[in-house]
Amino acid sequence: EHLVNRIAAGEVVERPASALKELVENSIDAGAKRISVSLSEGGLSSIDVVDDGCGMAPGEIALALERHATSKLPDDAIEAVTTLGFRGEALPSIGSVADLTIESRVRGADGWHRRVDHGDLVGEGPAALPPGTRIRVSNLFAKVPARRKFLRSARAEYAACVDVIKRLAMARPDIGFTLEHEGRRVILVAPDEQRVDRVAALTDRDLADNSVAVDFRREAVSLTGVAGLPTFNRGVADHQFLFVNGRPVKDRLLIGAVRGAYQDMLARDRHPVIALFVDLPGDQVDVNVHPAKTEVRFRDPGLVRGMIVGGLRAALDEAGH
Ligand code: ADP
Ligand code: MG
Repeated sequence: EHLVNRIAAGEVVERPASALKELVENSIDAGAKRISVSLSEGGLSSIDVVDDGCGMAPGEIALALERHATSKLPDDAIEAVTTLGFRGEALPSIGSVADLTIESRVRGADGWHRRVDHGDLVGEGPAALPPGTRIRVSNLFAKVPARRKFLRSARAEYAACVDVIKRLAMARPDIGFTLEHEGRRVILVAPDEQRVDRVAALTDRDLADNSVAVDFRREAVSLTGVAGLPTFNRGVADHQFLFVNGRPVKDRLLIGAVRGAYQDMLARDRHPVIALFVDLPGDQVDVNVHPAKTEVRFRDPGLVRGMIVGGLRAALDEAGH
Protein backbone atom coordinates (compact mmCIF):
# COMPACT_ATOMS: atom_id res chain seq x y z
CA GLU A 1 0.00 0.00 0.00
CA HIS A 2 2.81 2.44 0.86
CA LEU A 3 4.53 1.50 -2.37
CA VAL A 4 1.38 1.98 -4.47
CA ASN A 5 0.88 5.43 -2.94
CA ARG A 6 4.50 6.30 -3.49
CA ILE A 7 4.30 5.32 -7.17
CA ALA A 8 1.09 7.35 -7.56
CA ALA A 9 2.89 10.24 -5.87
CA GLY A 10 5.31 10.36 -8.77
CA GLU A 11 2.33 11.05 -11.01
CA VAL A 12 0.29 13.42 -8.86
CA VAL A 13 2.96 15.29 -6.92
CA GLU A 14 6.22 15.61 -8.74
CA ARG A 15 7.34 18.79 -6.96
CA PRO A 16 6.24 21.23 -4.25
CA ALA A 17 4.16 23.28 -6.68
CA SER A 18 2.08 20.25 -7.69
CA ALA A 19 1.48 19.32 -4.04
CA LEU A 20 0.51 22.93 -3.37
CA LYS A 21 -1.90 22.92 -6.31
CA GLU A 22 -3.64 19.80 -4.98
CA LEU A 23 -3.94 21.27 -1.49
CA VAL A 24 -5.32 24.63 -2.63
CA GLU A 25 -7.74 22.96 -5.03
CA ASN A 26 -9.01 20.92 -2.09
CA SER A 27 -9.54 24.16 -0.14
CA ILE A 28 -11.46 25.60 -3.10
CA ASP A 29 -13.55 22.42 -3.36
CA ALA A 30 -14.25 22.75 0.39
CA GLY A 31 -15.94 26.09 -0.27
CA ALA A 32 -13.24 28.22 1.36
CA LYS A 33 -13.61 32.01 1.18
CA ARG A 34 -10.04 32.66 2.33
CA ILE A 35 -6.98 30.54 1.68
CA SER A 36 -3.57 31.28 3.20
CA VAL A 37 -0.38 29.62 2.07
CA SER A 38 3.07 29.82 3.58
CA LEU A 39 6.17 28.25 2.18
CA SER A 40 9.65 27.64 3.36
CA GLU A 41 12.50 27.05 0.90
CA GLY A 42 10.14 27.19 -2.06
CA GLY A 43 8.00 24.49 -0.45
CA LEU A 44 10.86 21.98 -0.26
CA SER A 45 11.11 22.42 3.47
CA SER A 46 7.44 23.07 4.23
CA ILE A 47 4.09 24.01 2.72
CA ASP A 48 1.25 25.22 4.93
CA VAL A 49 -2.26 25.72 3.61
CA VAL A 50 -4.99 27.11 5.87
CA ASP A 51 -8.60 27.47 4.75
CA ASP A 52 -11.97 28.40 6.20
CA GLY A 53 -13.83 25.74 4.21
CA CYS A 54 -16.24 23.06 5.38
CA GLY A 55 -13.62 21.11 7.35
CA MET A 56 -13.52 17.36 8.02
CA ALA A 57 -14.82 15.30 10.90
CA PRO A 58 -12.20 12.97 12.52
CA GLY A 59 -13.38 9.98 10.51
CA GLU A 60 -13.21 11.98 7.30
CA ILE A 61 -9.61 12.97 7.99
CA ALA A 62 -8.66 9.30 8.25
CA LEU A 63 -10.59 8.52 5.08
CA ALA A 64 -8.98 11.41 3.20
CA LEU A 65 -5.63 9.70 3.69
CA GLU A 66 -6.86 6.49 2.12
CA ARG A 67 -6.36 5.85 -1.53
CA HIS A 68 -9.30 6.54 -3.84
CA ALA A 69 -11.43 7.70 -0.94
CA THR A 70 -12.92 10.83 -2.46
CA SER A 71 -16.02 12.53 -1.12
CA LYS A 72 -16.60 14.12 -4.51
CA LEU A 73 -17.88 11.48 -6.92
CA PRO A 74 -21.60 11.91 -7.52
CA ASP A 75 -22.91 8.35 -8.03
CA ASP A 76 -20.12 7.32 -10.38
CA ALA A 77 -21.02 9.99 -12.90
CA ILE A 78 -17.63 11.41 -13.85
CA GLU A 79 -19.22 13.88 -16.28
CA ALA A 80 -21.21 15.41 -13.43
CA VAL A 81 -18.11 16.31 -11.40
CA THR A 82 -18.03 20.02 -10.63
CA THR A 83 -15.14 19.96 -8.18
CA LEU A 84 -11.47 20.33 -9.10
CA GLY A 85 -10.56 16.98 -7.54
CA PHE A 86 -12.31 13.63 -7.70
CA ARG A 87 -9.64 10.95 -7.86
CA GLY A 88 -8.91 10.72 -4.16
CA GLU A 89 -5.19 10.38 -4.82
CA ALA A 90 -3.57 13.61 -3.74
CA LEU A 91 -3.52 13.37 0.04
CA PRO A 92 -2.48 9.69 0.28
CA SER A 93 0.18 10.36 -2.35
CA ILE A 94 1.58 13.38 -0.54
CA GLY A 95 1.40 11.49 2.76
CA SER A 96 3.52 8.71 1.31
CA VAL A 97 6.42 10.98 0.32
CA ALA A 98 6.42 13.60 3.10
CA ASP A 99 5.61 14.36 6.69
CA LEU A 100 1.92 15.38 6.47
CA THR A 101 -0.27 16.84 9.21
CA ILE A 102 -3.97 17.48 8.69
CA GLU A 103 -5.82 19.52 11.27
CA SER A 104 -9.47 20.10 10.62
CA ARG A 105 -12.64 21.25 12.27
CA VAL A 106 -16.23 21.23 11.12
CA ARG A 107 -18.21 24.25 12.32
CA GLY A 108 -19.94 23.47 15.62
CA ALA A 109 -17.71 20.47 16.39
CA ASP A 110 -14.27 19.96 17.94
CA GLY A 111 -11.10 19.91 15.87
CA TRP A 112 -8.98 16.84 15.22
CA HIS A 113 -5.59 16.16 13.73
CA ARG A 114 -3.82 13.27 12.11
CA ARG A 115 -0.17 13.08 11.11
CA VAL A 116 1.47 10.60 8.77
CA ASP A 117 5.17 10.37 8.03
CA HIS A 118 6.00 8.73 4.72
CA GLY A 119 2.87 6.62 4.94
CA ASP A 120 3.04 5.71 8.63
CA LEU A 121 0.55 7.07 11.13
CA VAL A 122 2.62 8.91 13.73
CA GLY A 123 0.06 10.97 15.62
CA GLU A 124 -3.62 11.63 16.10
CA GLY A 125 -5.72 13.61 18.56
CA PRO A 126 -7.66 16.77 19.33
CA ALA A 127 -6.65 20.03 17.68
CA ALA A 128 -7.52 23.65 18.41
CA LEU A 129 -8.27 25.68 15.29
CA PRO A 130 -11.06 27.80 13.80
CA PRO A 131 -13.55 25.98 11.54
CA GLY A 132 -11.75 24.86 8.40
CA THR A 133 -8.61 22.94 7.57
CA ARG A 134 -4.91 23.43 8.10
CA ILE A 135 -2.47 21.20 6.28
CA ARG A 136 1.29 21.07 6.67
CA VAL A 137 3.58 19.20 4.31
CA SER A 138 7.19 19.00 5.46
CA ASN A 139 10.26 17.54 3.82
CA LEU A 140 8.60 16.51 0.59
CA PHE A 141 10.54 13.62 -0.98
CA ALA A 142 13.16 13.83 1.81
CA LYS A 143 13.21 10.04 2.14
CA VAL A 144 12.68 9.33 -1.55
CA PRO A 145 16.13 9.98 -3.04
CA ALA A 146 15.05 8.88 -6.52
CA ARG A 147 12.60 11.77 -6.63
CA ARG A 148 14.48 14.27 -4.52
CA LYS A 149 17.23 14.43 -7.09
CA PHE A 150 14.79 15.63 -9.74
CA LEU A 151 13.79 18.65 -7.69
CA ARG A 152 15.19 21.97 -8.69
CA SER A 153 16.50 24.82 -6.56
CA ALA A 154 14.35 26.37 -3.85
CA ARG A 155 14.22 29.45 -6.07
CA ALA A 156 12.79 27.55 -9.04
CA GLU A 157 10.33 25.66 -6.84
CA TYR A 158 9.26 28.96 -5.27
CA ALA A 159 8.58 30.49 -8.70
CA ALA A 160 6.45 27.48 -9.67
CA CYS A 161 4.46 27.82 -6.42
CA VAL A 162 3.80 31.52 -7.08
CA ASP A 163 2.56 30.61 -10.54
CA VAL A 164 0.14 28.02 -9.10
CA ILE A 165 -1.33 30.52 -6.64
CA LYS A 166 -1.63 33.26 -9.25
CA ARG A 167 -3.52 31.01 -11.62
CA LEU A 168 -5.91 29.68 -9.01
CA ALA A 169 -6.44 33.21 -7.64
CA MET A 170 -7.31 34.47 -11.14
CA ALA A 171 -9.76 31.65 -11.67
CA ARG A 172 -11.50 32.50 -8.40
CA PRO A 173 -11.73 36.25 -7.78
CA ASP A 174 -14.46 35.45 -5.23
CA ILE A 175 -11.86 33.88 -2.92
CA GLY A 176 -9.19 35.76 -0.95
CA PHE A 177 -5.63 34.42 -1.13
CA THR A 178 -2.41 35.14 0.69
CA LEU A 179 0.99 33.70 -0.03
CA GLU A 180 3.97 34.05 2.28
CA HIS A 181 7.48 32.87 1.61
CA GLU A 182 9.95 32.66 4.51
CA GLY A 183 7.54 34.81 6.50
CA ARG A 184 7.37 37.54 3.85
CA ARG A 185 4.03 38.24 2.22
CA VAL A 186 4.22 38.04 -1.57
CA ILE A 187 0.56 37.84 -2.59
CA LEU A 188 -2.46 39.34 -0.89
CA VAL A 189 -5.80 39.56 -2.67
CA ALA A 190 -9.13 40.15 -0.94
CA PRO A 191 -12.21 38.06 -1.66
CA ASP A 192 -14.99 39.27 -4.00
CA GLU A 193 -12.85 41.26 -6.40
CA GLN A 194 -13.80 42.13 -9.98
CA ARG A 195 -11.99 39.85 -12.40
CA VAL A 196 -10.05 42.67 -14.08
CA ASP A 197 -8.83 44.00 -10.72
CA ARG A 198 -7.79 40.52 -9.63
CA VAL A 199 -5.86 39.89 -12.84
CA ALA A 200 -4.24 43.36 -12.63
CA ALA A 201 -3.22 42.77 -9.00
CA LEU A 202 -1.50 39.55 -10.02
CA THR A 203 0.16 40.76 -13.22
CA ASP A 204 0.55 44.48 -13.67
CA ARG A 205 -1.34 47.19 -11.85
CA ASP A 206 -1.61 49.28 -15.01
CA LEU A 207 -3.47 46.51 -16.82
CA ALA A 208 -6.87 47.78 -15.65
CA ASP A 209 -6.48 50.94 -17.78
CA ASN A 210 -4.81 49.17 -20.70
CA SER A 211 -7.05 46.23 -21.43
CA VAL A 212 -10.37 45.24 -22.89
CA ALA A 213 -12.97 42.94 -21.45
CA VAL A 214 -13.56 39.83 -23.53
CA ASP A 215 -17.09 38.47 -23.48
CA PHE A 216 -17.89 36.32 -26.46
CA ARG A 217 -20.29 33.45 -26.94
CA ARG A 218 -20.84 30.99 -29.74
CA GLU A 219 -23.23 28.09 -29.34
CA ALA A 220 -22.45 26.51 -26.00
CA VAL A 221 -18.90 27.87 -25.82
CA SER A 222 -18.04 31.08 -24.03
CA LEU A 223 -14.88 33.11 -23.97
CA THR A 224 -14.44 35.70 -21.22
CA GLY A 225 -11.57 37.48 -19.56
CA VAL A 226 -9.19 40.38 -19.78
CA ALA A 227 -6.98 41.08 -22.79
CA GLY A 228 -4.16 43.60 -22.62
CA LEU A 229 -4.05 46.13 -25.47
CA PRO A 230 -1.35 45.47 -28.06
CA THR A 231 0.29 48.75 -26.99
CA PHE A 232 0.52 47.39 -23.46
CA ASN A 233 2.59 44.39 -24.37
CA ARG A 234 5.26 43.15 -22.03
CA GLY A 235 8.40 41.37 -23.08
CA VAL A 236 7.57 38.38 -20.97
CA ALA A 237 5.61 35.35 -22.08
CA ASP A 238 4.60 34.44 -18.55
CA HIS A 239 1.78 36.97 -18.33
CA GLN A 240 -0.56 34.66 -20.24
CA PHE A 241 -3.07 32.87 -18.13
CA LEU A 242 -5.47 30.44 -19.75
CA PHE A 243 -8.32 28.51 -18.17
CA VAL A 244 -10.70 25.85 -19.38
CA ASN A 245 -13.85 25.31 -17.37
CA GLY A 246 -12.26 27.14 -14.47
CA ARG A 247 -9.06 25.09 -14.45
CA PRO A 248 -5.71 26.69 -15.16
CA VAL A 249 -4.19 25.05 -18.24
CA LYS A 250 -1.04 25.37 -20.29
CA ASP A 251 -2.19 24.24 -23.65
CA ARG A 252 -0.41 24.68 -26.97
CA LEU A 253 -3.60 25.08 -28.98
CA LEU A 254 -4.78 27.91 -26.74
CA ILE A 255 -1.41 29.65 -26.59
CA GLY A 256 -1.16 29.41 -30.38
CA ALA A 257 -4.65 30.84 -30.82
CA VAL A 258 -3.84 33.83 -28.61
CA ARG A 259 -0.66 34.43 -30.58
CA GLY A 260 -2.68 34.19 -33.78
CA ALA A 261 -5.17 36.79 -32.58
CA TYR A 262 -2.49 39.35 -31.77
CA GLN A 263 -0.24 38.33 -34.64
CA ASP A 264 0.31 41.45 -36.66
CA MET A 265 -0.44 43.83 -33.80
CA LEU A 266 2.59 43.08 -31.69
CA ALA A 267 6.23 43.78 -32.26
CA ARG A 268 8.48 40.74 -32.54
CA ASP A 269 9.24 38.99 -29.27
CA ARG A 270 6.49 40.86 -27.45
CA HIS A 271 3.69 39.09 -25.68
CA PRO A 272 0.22 40.25 -24.65
CA VAL A 273 -0.87 40.25 -21.03
CA ILE A 274 -3.96 38.11 -21.00
CA ALA A 275 -6.25 36.09 -18.76
CA LEU A 276 -8.68 34.10 -20.86
CA PHE A 277 -11.41 31.79 -19.69
CA VAL A 278 -12.91 29.22 -22.05
CA ASP A 279 -16.04 27.53 -20.80
CA LEU A 280 -17.76 24.75 -22.67
CA PRO A 281 -19.90 21.70 -21.93
CA GLY A 282 -18.00 18.90 -20.19
CA ASP A 283 -18.58 16.46 -23.05
CA GLN A 284 -16.70 18.74 -25.47
CA VAL A 285 -13.45 18.72 -23.57
CA ASP A 286 -11.24 16.35 -21.64
CA VAL A 287 -9.23 18.21 -19.02
CA ASN A 288 -7.87 15.07 -17.44
CA VAL A 289 -5.41 13.97 -20.05
CA HIS A 290 -2.71 14.07 -17.40
CA PRO A 291 -3.16 13.77 -13.61
CA ALA A 292 -1.68 17.24 -13.19
CA LYS A 293 -4.60 18.37 -15.36
CA THR A 294 -2.87 21.15 -17.24
CA GLU A 295 -3.45 19.77 -20.72
CA VAL A 296 -6.78 19.64 -22.46
CA ARG A 297 -8.23 17.85 -25.42
CA PHE A 298 -11.07 19.54 -27.27
CA ARG A 299 -13.62 17.61 -29.28
CA ASP A 300 -13.65 20.44 -31.81
CA PRO A 301 -10.26 22.19 -31.63
CA GLY A 302 -11.05 24.25 -34.74
CA LEU A 303 -14.12 25.80 -33.12
CA VAL A 304 -12.18 26.78 -30.00
CA ARG A 305 -9.28 28.21 -31.97
CA GLY A 306 -11.62 30.14 -34.24
CA MET A 307 -13.48 31.56 -31.27
CA ILE A 308 -10.32 32.74 -29.56
CA VAL A 309 -8.93 34.42 -32.65
CA GLY A 310 -12.33 35.88 -33.59
CA GLY A 311 -13.34 36.86 -30.05
CA LEU A 312 -10.05 38.53 -29.21
CA ARG A 313 -9.88 40.40 -32.52
CA ALA A 314 -13.46 41.64 -32.08
CA ALA A 315 -12.73 42.88 -28.56
CA LEU A 316 -9.50 44.60 -29.61
CA ASP A 317 -11.12 46.10 -32.75
CA GLU A 318 -13.86 47.59 -30.65
CA ALA A 319 -11.19 49.28 -28.54
CA GLY A 320 -9.74 50.72 -31.75
CA HIS A 321 -6.82 48.37 -32.35
P1 ADP B 1 -9.95 14.41 -4.16
O1 ADP B 1 -9.76 15.90 -4.05
O2 ADP B 1 -9.66 13.89 -5.54
O3 ADP B 1 -11.25 13.94 -3.61
P2 ADP B 1 -7.78 14.29 -2.26
O4 ADP B 1 -6.81 13.21 -1.94
O5 ADP B 1 -7.24 15.57 -2.77
O6 ADP B 1 -8.83 13.69 -3.27
O7 ADP B 1 -8.64 14.59 -0.97
C1 ADP B 1 -9.35 13.51 -0.37
C2 ADP B 1 -10.58 13.99 0.35
O8 ADP B 1 -10.20 14.74 1.51
C3 ADP B 1 -11.47 14.92 -0.44
O9 ADP B 1 -12.39 14.21 -1.24
C4 ADP B 1 -12.16 15.72 0.67
O10 ADP B 1 -13.29 15.00 1.13
C5 ADP B 1 -11.14 15.75 1.79
N1 ADP B 1 -10.41 17.02 1.88
C6 ADP B 1 -9.14 17.25 1.45
N2 ADP B 1 -8.75 18.53 1.67
C7 ADP B 1 -9.80 19.13 2.28
C8 ADP B 1 -10.02 20.48 2.79
N3 ADP B 1 -9.08 21.44 2.70
N4 ADP B 1 -11.22 20.73 3.37
C9 ADP B 1 -12.18 19.77 3.47
N5 ADP B 1 -12.03 18.51 3.01
C10 ADP B 1 -10.86 18.17 2.41
MG1 MG C 1 -8.00 16.90 -4.27
